Amino acid sequence: MNEGLAADLRSVMSADRVRTNATELGLYRRDASNIEGSAGVVCFPLTTTEVQAAVRTAQRHGVAFVARGAGTGLAGGATPLDHALVIATTKMNRVLSVDAVNRMAWVEPGVLNLDLTRQVSHLGLHFAPDPSSQQSCSIGGNVANNSGGPHCLSDGVTASHVLGLEVVLSDGSVVQFGGEEPEEEGLDLRGAFVGSEGMFGIATKVLVRLTQNAPTVKTMLMDFASVEAGAQTVSAIIAAGMVPAALEMMDQLCVQAVEAYIHAGLPLEAAAVLLVEVAGLAAGVEADAERIVEIGLAHDAGTVRIAKDEAERALLWKGRKTAFGAIARIKPNYYLHDTVVPRRMLPEVLRQVYEIAERHQLLVMNVFHAGDGNLHPLLVFDKREPGVMERVHAAGEEIVRASVAAGGVLSGEHGIGMEKRDFMPMMFAPADLAAQAAMRRGFDPTGLANPYKVLPSAGACGDVQHVPDGAWV
Ligand SMILES: Cc1cc2nc3c(=O)[nH]c(=O)nc-3n(C[C@H](O)[C@H](O)[C@H](O)COP(=O)(O)OP(=O)(O)OC[C@H]3O[C@@H](n4cnc5c(N)ncnc54)[C@H](O)[C@@H]3O)c2cc1C
Repeated sequence: MNEGLAADLRSVMSADRVRTNATELGLYRRDASNIEGSAGVVCFPLTTTEVQAAVRTAQRHGVAFVARGAGTGLAGGATPLDHALVIATTKMNRVLSVDAVNRMAWVEPGVLNLDLTRQVSHLGLHFAPDPSSQQSCSIGGNVANNSGGPHCLSDGVTASHVLGLEVVLSDGSVVQFGGEEPEEEGLDLRGAFVGSEGMFGIATKVLVRLTQNAPTVKTMLMDFASVEAGAQTVSAIIAAGMVPAALEMMDQLCVQAVEAYIHAGLPLEAAAVLLVEVAGLAAGVEADAERIVEIGLAHDAGTVRIAKDEAERALLWKGRKTAFGAIARIKPNYYLHDTVVPRRMLPEVLRQVYEIAERHQLLVMNVFHAGDGNLHPLLVFDKREPGVMERVHAAGEEIVRASVAAGGVLSGEHGIGMEKRDFMPMMFAPADLAAQAAMRRGFDPTGLANPYKVLPSAGACGDVQHVPDGAWV
């Protein structure tokens, strides 16, 4: 706790929005990952001016500050280290204006992803990035992590849906990157900010692109006797020149957990199921759906189930989007990894993932954005079992190494945060890391904006003597 900082914050925003109670600090010491740090103070600004004042106060005290949305991040991005100030945007949750003609909206960063779509659905519009956590994650968090989701295969990830940003920089100044004009002059600082994981400042307003709802949508479920056949079907669909709205895969263990939860009649004997959605004009949707079924059958799909109405479609998606929660029926804990591999390498890397988990005596379930090659191996365990965490971390690192060795990357959408910070040299040479650190200093010369994230210790924040680490829990 930092009472001096808290007292100064109480002079710039209402006292009940500055918290130092031990229980509350405990709640904010981590995000949804297994990495825990320590919060010195948590504050809840309502306006850009209050965010500015909070950042300036942190600067005066020489204390690091961490922007926090809903705390659903899985890489420790919003985990405060060394008693940092947590600036939570949850109360900045208004949709400020909607321009239906030009399909854009200004929103505050604490607006929840699904709430934004709900608020514009009467206009036939939606916010396209749809993380599986969309009921609870914030637009600010989506921006900072450049989040993806099942429908980002055809629509693109968050960077394609952010037109402009108002940002409070680490010196407390307010700047705007991008905007309503189609092409801004100069450097694309909007593009640089999206995905910067809280290290470039705090987004206080976001200008989002809204996407028209498709007139026709068709959702299909195909099952396969092997994971390889499912993965090969994914590659064949894309190779045939189609980009479905979504192309998601779940393996047998995952299907069994989900079915026990949603009772949708999922095929329990299948080794893998593919959830495929096509969207657009009716004629195109019908033609693509027929072609996709042909490709599935050519790869020995067992059954093909086409959702007959919106209720069945919603049920199939509920299964996919609540898969992580459903695993609680098997074991109380899970560790979710996020890597990307070239699509053609999916069968080989999945084979390695199963082999790694077996060698470490762990259960693994795979549920992932197959069309993007974005793997989500879920290691399922009971952390009360002695020695299990060591095996979970060892298996996780091997999975990351196997993905990178296959030509993949460290993260598809969850970000680097603390979790993969020390893996960065697997992908980047010292000169690349130095360039990234220089860019970070360009936005945040003091290094107080969410320090020690993303960049490995050496490149963290300039002249650093002490690099705090989070604790794995
Ligand atoms: C069950 C589950 C399913 C998930 N599914 C997906 C998925 O399908 N796709 C996906 O991409 N992710 C997924 N995630 C991860 C997570 O939900 C996303 O990364 C989400 O965008 C984080 O949003 P948040 O509001 O919770 O951010 P937080 O966890 O609060 O913060 C995440 C990062 O953003 C920074 N940040 C937050 N707000 C701001 C701001 N206003 N300005 C600057 N920086 C800020 C933080 O400092 C931190 O580095 C899932 C998580 C869970 C728990």
